[in-house]
Formats: sequence, C-alpha cells, structure tokens
Amino acid sequence: MPECLGSHLCELSTKKVTLEDGHTVCSACPEFREECEAKRLLTYPIMDRNEGFRKREQIRGKEATDRLKARVEALRNKQAEQRREKAQQWLR
Ligand SMILES: [Zn+2]
Repeated sequence: MPECLGSHLCELSTKKVTLEDGHTVCSACPEFREECEAKRLLTYPIMDRNEGFRKREQIRGKEATDRLKARVEALRNKQAEQRREKAQQWLR
C-alpha cells in the first residue's frame, strides 16, 4: 500500500491525511491536493464546474483534466451512495 506518493515536500510535512480511497499520505502529497481540488469542484453548480474543467484543460491539457474529471465523478458517485445508505436508514 502506497504511503506518500511522491514530492520533495513530503519530508517537510508532518501532517498525515486519509484519502477517500483509504490511503494515508502527507498533506503535501500531490494526491491530496488533487483530491481537495476535486472536492472543491464538486461543490460548484454544474455549469461552473464545466467552466472550471474547460479552463483547466487550456492550461494543463486534456489528459490531466480527464484525470481530474474522473476523480470528481468517482467522488460524486461515492457521495450519492452515502446519501442512499443514509436515506435507507431513515426508512427503516
Ligand atoms: Zn507525501
């Protein structure tokens, strides 16, 4: 299981965080930054989110943006699943 996923900043960071996939990394890890970015984008209304993707694609390219889109989508599915579970608990 990967711990820190690579950055020279990892050595300087003492704070550990747990990612949505269960991995523990330091708060300087690129993985954590990308997850924070995806969570932020997910709070935007759909039009703003798409605009955000469009701007990022101009700067970072299609490949990096597609990775971010996939991350946002996975997060959205996970949150929807959590909401479904919660709703079912209420109905019991
Ligand atoms: Zn790290």
